[in-house]
Amino acid sequence: MPKSDIHVLSAIKLSPFYEPLVREQFIFHDRLHETDPKAFAAIAPQIRGIAGSGESKVSGELIAQCPNLEIISVFGVGYDGVDVAAARAKGVMVTHTPNVLNDDVADLAIGLMLSAARQLPQADRYVREGRWAEIGPMPLARKVSGAKLGIVGMGRIGQAIAQRALAFNMSVAYTTRSPKSVPFTHVPNVVDLARQSDYLIVITPGGAATRHLINAEVLAALGPEGILVNVARGSVVDEAALIDALERKVIAGAGLDVFQNEPHVPEALRAVPHVVLAPHIGSATSQTRKAMGDLAFANLQAHFEGRPVITPVPECQ
Ligand code: NAP
Repeated sequence: MPKSDIHVLSAIKLSPFYEPLVREQFIFHDRLHETDPKAFAAIAPQIRGIAGSGESKVSGELIAQCPNLEIISVFGVGYDGVDVAAARAKGVMVTHTPNVLNDDVADLAIGLMLSAARQLPQADRYVREGRWAEIGPMPLARKVSGAKLGIVGMGRIGQAIAQRALAFNMSVAYTTRSPKSVPFTHVPNVVDLARQSDYLIVITPGGAATRHLINAEVLAALGPEGILVNVARGSVVDEAALIDALERKVIAGAGLDVFQNEPHVPEALRAVPHVVLAPHIGSATSQTRKAMGDLAFANLQAHFEGRPVITPVPECQ
């Protein structure tokens, strides 16, 4: 297809699976609002699309600066960085990339649960550093198969996690604001869910509605044998309360893919030994990132060709 004369701005450094597609099809302005605000002010009235990611911020202010903006296409399922209310108020469509990443995020959640329970990174270091030969066997770990799993959020990814947990003979319960038609026990209150769970996996959206949903009270309810896994957003867990709970052994351990102030992870969290840390890699496989790039681009393309977008966010449906 010939290159169009439509101007698209990126809100963040885009994935190599997304950016080349946008560059090839549209007139692309790579984070111009950040790198050269003066040049951006001159071009802003021509911007008709914004390309972002799950981590990018598209504020009401940026939306207001682009009077002819029509669409914000997010490469990622979470869009808590986008001011959707401001977009909707101006008739701007917001799209995201649901479903294509369910498997990867669910795989990572289970991987972090197994890693935190069976101390896999610590075991690797134990062998590499010669402690096995020097000291003898490692301290015993905690069993996963057959244990009680609580899932906070039972949407597309939560259900993929639950499906995997069944293969480990785990009993699954979950909390959400409204019960879902799934064959698992709905527990209305997150504290009650934590109290009855050995492992608690968090997979809700981020944003104001879930901010610090996992707080000191939830961690106390999870208890000294409990393990927390967060693959949702850093904002969902009160990080200071989590560090305190880990340091005082209020919970046994954690597996974390997301943090409050990425890519900065507090030194105190890096210092606690019974935590497994990952640099926000939930969907980070080549296969899934390609599928996400294709879908994010297809949404832009559909819109500018006058077809309905493929995956609008719920607020824009
Ligand atoms: P989804 O299908 O929209 O599911 C979200 C679930 O969270 C729903 O079951 C929803 O149920 C529940 N929920 C929302 N607010 C809640 C609250 N206040 N308390 C309890 N439950 C609540 O979304 P998804 O596709 O599964 O994705 C979930 C999130 O995962 C994304 O928004 C993103 O933040 C995160 N994510 C992370 C990575 C990563 O790399 N680590 C990758 C992809 C996605 P109710 O509405 O009934 O409450």
